[in-house]
Amino acid sequence: MKRAHNFSAGPAALPTEVLEKVREELLDYKNTGTSIMEKSHRGKEYTEVDQQAKERLTRILGLGNDFHIMFLQGGATAQFMQVPLNFLEEHETADYINTGVWSQKAIKETKLFGNVHIPFSSEEEQFSRVPNDDELQLSDQPRYLHYTSNNTIYGTQFQQEPKSDGAPLVCDASSDFLSREIDVDRYGLIYAGAQKNLGPSGVTVVIVKKEFLESISKKNIPTFLDYRSHATRILNTPPTFAVYMVNLVLEWFEDKGGIPYFKKLNQEKSDLLYSTIDVDDFFRGTAQKDSRSKMNVTFRLPSEELEKKFLEEAANNDLVALKGHRSVGGIRASIYNACRLESVKALADFMEYFRAKNG
Ligand code: PMP
Repeated sequence: MKRAHNFSAGPAALPTEVLEKVREELLDYKNTGTSIMEKSHRGKEYTEVDQQAKERLTRILGLGNDFHIMFLQGGATAQFMQVPLNFLEEHETADYINTGVWSQKAIKETKLFGNVHIPFSSEEEQFSRVPNDDELQLSDQPRYLHYTSNNTIYGTQFQQEPKSDGAPLVCDASSDFLSREIDVDRYGLIYAGAQKNLGPSGVTVVIVKKEFLESISKKNIPTFLDYRSHATRILNTPPTFAVYMVNLVLEWFEDKGGIPYFKKLNQEKSDLLYSTIDVDDFFRGTAQKDSRSKMNVTFRLPSEELEKKFLEEAANNDLVALKGHRSVGGIRASIYNACRLESVKALADFMEYFRAKNG
């Protein structure tokens, strides 16, 4: 068996230890004679999985008793619609920072429900950066401020929460969830598809502040799409196997040392790649330096032919899934929590070798 150095942007690499545990438990979950996949979502075992995963998230993020955690379906894409459907009245305005395609998709959905004000956009700079606080032109008392904390395609990341003048933050944290600490008190809602930093695809973690949830005054929200239907109970059959895997990833995450451990590791991994890029101008980082992501490192080579050659030779060396997003091209190394330092070192070595041969 071989495990490649996997730099996939998502669904992304999972910890080998977690996959091994899944394999071990697959046919006979804790001596019950059935798989966790084959059990009722209301039964003892799955109830325990659901509660454990929520307890772990509460502990890891320091959520206290102020938040509800939900395991929903439909990916982050469903959240683009579900957030304004629940929180935005027709006459109200929500602020959306536009830092890429995922922000734009969220904006498009929100316009179906109310007004959108855009306090900053980097569209004219090919989304190569995120804003400084002093560039944000917030509206007067927005319902909430939405931002995409890490822009998976462009390799940019907010270095901290943007200013919001007291408005609750709503964050699409799909591609940097649990990679560093967050200032939980400032959030109304955080959502993240699991398939990058948290587990397999099929489940989206949605964390909502109780106070924010209680501020919903809209009527006629379809039951399934109303956050209040999910906040305190399991409404219908959830993606049980995906949640089970999320719980195992969270167990692994805590065993390793939690956010402090991964924050340091992610810094080390991204430093290694950016310092390799910055040696000369053979590799060219696409994100502006103060906006660089610690999760997706994006760069170009002197020509598209060389990029093609780079990808081919990398794959021959077991360095896989390095192709940039189809909308921007180039190279993208996604180095989420489960991507090991050893894989990043192998990539940096390969980059140096490739530069020496072709530069
Ligand atoms: N937001 C961000 C930041 C993403 O990276 C992605 C997926 N790459 C999405 C939203 C869309 O997620 P999903 O496919 O889970 O709907």
